[in-house]
Amino acid sequence: MTDDPQNPQTTAGPAADASAASPAAETRLLGATEIRRLAGELDVRPTKTLGQNFVIDGNTIRRIVAAAHLDPGETVLEVGPGLGSLTLGLLDAAARVVAVEIDPKLAARLPQTVAEFRPGAAGNLDVVPADALRVTELPHAPTALVANLPYNVAVPVVLHLLEHFPTLRHGLVMVQDEVADRLCAGPGNKTYGIPSLKAAWYAGMRKAGVIGMNVFWPAPKIHSGLVSFERREPPATTASRTEVFAAIDAAFAQRRKTLRAALAGWAGGADAAERTLRLAGIDPQARGERLVIGDFARIAEARHQLHAEEGERA
Ligand code: SAM
Repeated sequence: MTDDPQNPQTTAGPAADASAASPAAETRLLGATEIRRLAGELDVRPTKTLGQNFVIDGNTIRRIVAAAHLDPGETVLEVGPGLGSLTLGLLDAAARVVAVEIDPKLAARLPQTVAEFRPGAAGNLDVVPADALRVTELPHAPTALVANLPYNVAVPVVLHLLEHFPTLRHGLVMVQDEVADRLCAGPGNKTYGIPSLKAAWYAGMRKAGVIGMNVFWPAPKIHSGLVSFERREPPATTASRTEVFAAIDAAFAQRRKTLRAALAGWAGGADAAERTLRLAGIDPQARGERLVIGDFARIAEARHQLHAEEGERA
């Protein structure tokens, strides 16, 4: 990189992305020069609250898009398009992009950026100016989620979207590296916990790489991780998702305790927790970090069964 990616508003020099100078203008991506220009024009001061770290490196965009394995006919949901770095790459690989952006200034500018850099694809973009944690309807049903997510809300955003948009079949998200590890961890791993289990309800999650800090403006102080996911059927159970998630929350609220103790409040006492666990075929002395999502589904189901039996006896 020939200019300072950390200060794109004040430095001069050639674009960070070699493709910016390429004659193939229709595949041009945003480098430091373009980000500098757009940010200056909009008077954007990136905020931590909204997790605004913009990608200024075309190779990173190409890497994300390649790892997303998009079919050309897909409708991609992008959360937080920002200045449009990833949006342009997604428009090259998919039929349609639905972009949900909370910052009204960025949302309003995006169609113009796309018209400027991808005039042929301008009609393939829908911008939804909204909080991704609250959207329950979109102009087109998305089949893939591909996003450089705002780090402070990454897990709730992924869970919310998987819950409300069952057409989402797969995806690739960039999150804080530590969060990527949590989402992808398996039982016994020290990072295994609530995000791993709740994500596993909806999808198989896999770590797809680590991204350094200097491809962003401003540069975050931590590495980012790529997480790829494929939706799958949740475990077969008569318990609802909410009930299963409540059991997970209870088990991990006191992570170091045995399940018998940790689930006492949730089950109506330690004895009730023990009966529930035994009925589910789980050792009451085990800890939540050893269980998989199907185990929690059985625990929630066993609680129902015991309640029903107790009701009959009463
Ligand atoms: N996609 C752009 C890129 O890669 O350069 C920007 C990514 S930046 C990490 C996160 C983006 O998410 C910002 O544009 C921010 O304004 C937006 N954002 C933050 N919270 C959001 C929310 N709850 N819903 C929708 N967008 C949000």
